[in-house]
Amino acid sequence: LTFSDLNIARPLMKGLSTMQFEKPTPIQAACIPIGLKGRDMCACAVTGSGKTVAFMLPILERLLYRPAERSVTRVLILVPTRELAVQVYQVGRQIAQYTKISMCLAAGGLDVKSQEASLRLGPDIVVATPGRLIDHLHNAPNFSISSVEILVLDEADRMLDEYFAEQMKEIIRMCNFQRQTMLFSATMSDAVQDLAAVSLKDPIKVFV
Ligand code: AMP
Repeated sequence: LTFSDLNIARPLMKGLSTMQFEKPTPIQAACIPIGLKGRDMCACAVTGSGKTVAFMLPILERLLYRPAERSVTRVLILVPTRELAVQVYQVGRQIAQYTKISMCLAAGGLDVKSQEASLRLGPDIVVATPGRLIDHLHNAPNFSISSVEILVLDEADRMLDEYFAEQMKEIIRMCNFQRQTMLFSATMSDAVQDLAAVSLKDPIKVFV
């Protein structure tokens, strides 16, 4: 199996080729077709499995083939830490480098004002940590996630301590109900399964 077998658009193939990946990892081979169909998924995947590309490619395909009529945020990727947010953002930027898809980071420890200015423009994709995202939703004028049509919960098990859990639920409630949700977690604890139950609709479960 190669990436071209997965029917990935030419500009994205070009972006991928700069990363010098030869073929999809098992999690990518399993998740990309499900993601492309628009289905919800609950995937058990550890760091190092290639999960970032597994959710990023279906996201970028959707944005390429169904352009928006106006500038609104259509994709929200939630991650537990700033470091992971930066990594996910960089992978997205690299694969999307030959497209006009716009992306913004909303993570703790980075400048609030410049993030606010970028969010106001309605970037296609926002990569965020829950706490900072909530701050922006409460404070940044003209920024909303009500048009989010794809939600990713990455490393979900690390976003479920008591404080985060409430924020996560608040965020999920604010996204469009008619959306695709992809949940990735290293473990499937009861807390993760509870989160899956409130955020996913008829998900396909992926274990590789
Ligand atoms: P992730 O699990 O998304 O954090 O990715 C872990 C590492 O695997 C990263 O350093 C990626 O650059 C690398 N990687 C992702 N997809 C592939 C692939 N198809 N072939 C080789 N390496 C990959």
